[in-house]
Amino acid sequence: MLSEKRALVTGSTSGIGLAVARALRAEGAEIILNGLGDEGEISRLCEELGATFNGANLMDPAAIEAMMEEVGPVDILVNNAGMQHVSPVEDFPPEKWDAVIALNLSAVFHTTRLAVPGMKAKGWGRIINTASAHSLAASPFKSAYVASKHAIAGFTKTIALELAQDGVTANCISPGYVWTPLVENQIPDTMAARGMTREQVMNDVLLAKQPTKKFVQPEEVGAMAVFLCSDAAGNVTGANWSIDGGWTAE
Ligand code: NAD
Repeated sequence: MLSEKRALVTGSTSGIGLAVARALRAEGAEIILNGLGDEGEISRLCEELGATFNGANLMDPAAIEAMMEEVGPVDILVNNAGMQHVSPVEDFPPEKWDAVIALNLSAVFHTTRLAVPGMKAKGWGRIINTASAHSLAASPFKSAYVASKHAIAGFTKTIALELAQDGVTANCISPGYVWTPLVENQIPDTMAARGMTREQVMNDVLLAKQPTKKFVQPEEVGAMAVFLCSDAAGNVTGANWSIDGGWTAE
């Protein structure tokens, strides 16, 4: 279905981005991986997916410009790289705030502004932003993350309107908790911020949000991305697709 398409998936060396890259590859898309990580593991992933890799640090706008120049025009842009920091607002380190906003929000602006001209020239494009249930609802101690994800939802709606007549769609996918390193790594800080044990954080904080009582699977997010890239989704734009086990229905 996507054999003529080139897809750049940011933050695809791990977790959700890797699952999205695998799902798009399974439909025939050419994949460009991006992210941080172990060189050997990244080479193995490139081999598995027949992919190329660009290791730009997306907190640096100049590095994003160099990456987009090197990669060239893409048909599918999946803005997925993201980070979390958990802390009460009065203790939230300002440099962590800046880092979360740079990666989760500003990087999406930069990749998008640089990818759009190529998509417009072709009259076809798909922009998919991994937002979060936290683009629709808040949780305490995640001020920068929740602010960045709410902003991404607004940014996505805005570009969807701008590109509506250019054959380019822009949508958010908003997962609930997906078991990836991003979630695993926030458990110690959440334990500290809330005075809880690991088990309490898993059951009373994470899964408490999801009526299904199950973590979302990265592959389920990959399947949603494939749908959004299909011709059947040509009129789906400016939407925020929840995949959160019912979290935001409450
Ligand atoms: P992850 O930690 O497994 O993956 C994050 C990816 O981003 C990795 O490939 C990492 O190398 C890359 N990355 C980190 N910093 C980077 C930087 N400075 N420059 C370039 N790449 C960088 O996390 P994940 O859970 O797969 O998260 C992916 C996206 O999904 C994020 O935007 C996250 O906010 C969102 N999300 C995750 C969950 C969840 O429960 N895991 C829920 C909702 C939304």
